[in-house]
Amino acid sequence: MKSISTPERITVVGAGLMGQGITQIFASQGHAVCLTDSNQDALGSAKDRVRTNLTRMARGGIDLGADIEEILARISTTPDLATACKACDFVFEAVYEDLELKQRIFSDLDRMCPPTTILCSNTSAISITQIAQQSKNRERIVGTHFWNPPYLIPLVEVIRAEETADWCTHSAYSLLARVGKHPVHVHKDVPGFVGNRLQHALWREAFAIIDEGICDPATVDEVIRNGFGLRLPILGPVENADMVGLDLTLAIHNYILKFINADPTPSTTLQARVETGQLGFKSGQGFLEWAESDMAESRERLANYLINVFAERQRQSKGEAK
Ligand code: NAD
Repeated sequence: MKSISTPERITVVGAGLMGQGITQIFASQGHAVCLTDSNQDALGSAKDRVRTNLTRMARGGIDLGADIEEILARISTTPDLATACKACDFVFEAVYEDLELKQRIFSDLDRMCPPTTILCSNTSAISITQIAQQSKNRERIVGTHFWNPPYLIPLVEVIRAEETADWCTHSAYSLLARVGKHPVHVHKDVPGFVGNRLQHALWREAFAIIDEGICDPATVDEVIRNGFGLRLPILGPVENADMVGLDLTLAIHNYILKFINADPTPSTTLQARVETGQLGFKSGQGFLEWAESDMAESRERLANYLINVFAERQRQSKGEAK
């Protein structure tokens, strides 16, 4: 029998961008993690990528809590799904965003894992209820939507599907809180959950503004980065509306909502650019033009910003704990 204080054994399915990051989170917090992937190359390079991330975080002033090699030693890998899930308390699935693949994996996990194992999907948008459809024990299947990079962005949306049991969502929430994530409960299994609905409502309006020629693409980002975007990390729309007054918010909405985009189809500019091969960083041209050095600078700026925010939050929580 496993003692209560033993860290939960974690299995991660899919060693791509998100799977590696999720593995890193649990290994950093003292959990034994078994990582599996059907692609040997992805599996073979996963630990090196985790090492690179951890080295960068340490350089940026983040306290990792253990030596990098000690963290890496907690990670084992196998290409065999059955071996990976023979003895585990939680499985985090992070394979391609493909409904049939995820349904198959969950049906396999449900057959192969011990009956008490909780099965979590990191899908960005697919209904958890649909993912669970081919599985027998659907009460133990739950959505846990991490954000990229998962080891730096605290939020994880914990999504209850139609048949998920409360004990399952609560166990996933509690584990995520214990490893330093910021879980939130999402009570309805709707496309986009909460975060992606909010994010893509903003993106739809951003692209509609470009379609209508109200300002150029670079100006859209300037308006956000130098305007209300500065408030967003500490003030969401709910608190902000209360702060300015719900009467004022209602008056603004009564006037403005009819002018804001509500199209169910994507922006015409977005569609036209994709049709002509203008894919952004992938092709060097998207809404904006991208030289190699600009892309490197943009990625670096984001990584440094997120590491600084993480380090600052860690310092604050250590100060509060004293
Ligand atoms: P990825 O392409 O980087 O990695 C997917 C991995 O799954 C690959 O290594 C692949 O070999 C593996 N895989 C495929 N079939 C498999 C199988 N049958 N068994 C084992 N492994 C298999 O993808 P990603 O970006 O890490 O995304 C993974 C999931 O996380 C997707 O559902 C995605 O929507 C979601 N997600 C992605 C992001 C993001 O920003 N990339 C953010 C949040 C959620």
